Amino acid sequence: AREIHLKSRPQGMPTTEDFALTTVSIPEPKAGEVLVKNLWMSVDPYMRGRMVDRKSYVPPFALNEVLAGGAIGEVVESFNPNFPVGTHVSSMNGWREYFTSAGEDLQPLPKTELPPQAFLGVLGMPGMTAYTGLTKIGELKAGDNVFVSAASGAVGAIVCQIAKLKGCYVAGSVGSEEKARYLIDELGVDAVVNYKTTDNLTQSIAQACPNGIDVYFENVGGEHLEAVLNVMNDYGRIAVCGMIDQYNNTAPSAGPSNLALLIMKKLKMQGFIIFDHWAGYPAFVEQMGEWIKSGQISWKETVYEGIEQAPDAFIGLFNGKNTGKMLVKLA
Ligand code: NDP
Repeated sequence: AREIHLKSRPQGMPTTEDFALTTVSIPEPKAGEVLVKNLWMSVDPYMRGRMVDRKSYVPPFALNEVLAGGAIGEVVESFNPNFPVGTHVSSMNGWREYFTSAGEDLQPLPKTELPPQAFLGVLGMPGMTAYTGLTKIGELKAGDNVFVSAASGAVGAIVCQIAKLKGCYVAGSVGSEEKARYLIDELGVDAVVNYKTTDNLTQSIAQACPNGIDVYFENVGGEHLEAVLNVMNDYGRIAVCGMIDQYNNTAPSAGPSNLALLIMKKLKMQGFIIFDHWAGYPAFVEQMGEWIKSGQISWKETVYEGIEQAPDAFIGLFNGKNTGKMLVKLA
């Protein structure tokens, strides 16, 4: 079976040279164990942080060892009655085609008619991040004016839709006209800024948000944060989910020059890590399942095929190659 190892720690933007496709033999499952064939794996921006050798909320990836990340697989051999052959399971054992497990690192997928890979996106970590960040951290209320950066991505596109169905005005920023059209035409977003073509981000965001911004869902950081601060309303909330603009930086990035606006506008700004909120996951799945069933939430996937494509899929996150959830189909 094949798996992807981290060959070198990326300097700046990762390249395919930082990864190695390796063939390994998978041990036969023993009593109590199962053999899992991965069907889908996720690539996520946070993995870039784990490629750096430093202390963080998750330990760094080791060099010359298999990478890890969210995956959906199927049990193909079983000596464990809890996971019969055919069971779909989610795990953190991505970046590999097969693995054996005694079951402690597997979660059976809830029974649904939705495609299993939805549990890596809308019904998984990104969906949960969108929901929690917006409602709990952003303290969303009906009628709020909401702005979302990286608005067409796995998290962003769900944020836009939850805010719409909660009765908010919603605007977002994206890096292409095609993504802008997706948000307006398919998701019902009220206004979109293409941050790559504007020459004045503050002005474009102000135009997109004529009544200012009450909740900013921050995925990007950098210039975006500085521009949004200029447009925030008094008592606004900023849910800091990600700052993808700086994940590949090789030097410290400049801070926003206007942070004093936090005082002037009496803003609240709070970061969060979704794993701290995981106790709320079952309730989230139930709520999101209802929204999907009633047609209030939809999603898109960008799919790369084959494990050998996983590094390109991952790197593609930093070049805007995805609309919706970036996935790798393994089987
Ligand atoms: P996305 O699906 O949004 O993919 C990343 C997107 O970000 C790209 O498609 C691209 O879209 C945009 N992007 C990339 N580089 C830049 C840049 N320099 N400036 C502006 N936009 C950029 O990823 P996710 O939905 O999985 O993650 C979104 C954010 O949420 C990330 O910052 C991630 O780290 C964070 N996150 C945080 C979690 C938490 O617990 N706090 C959990 C999950 C995600 P475009 O073409 O529009 O540029």
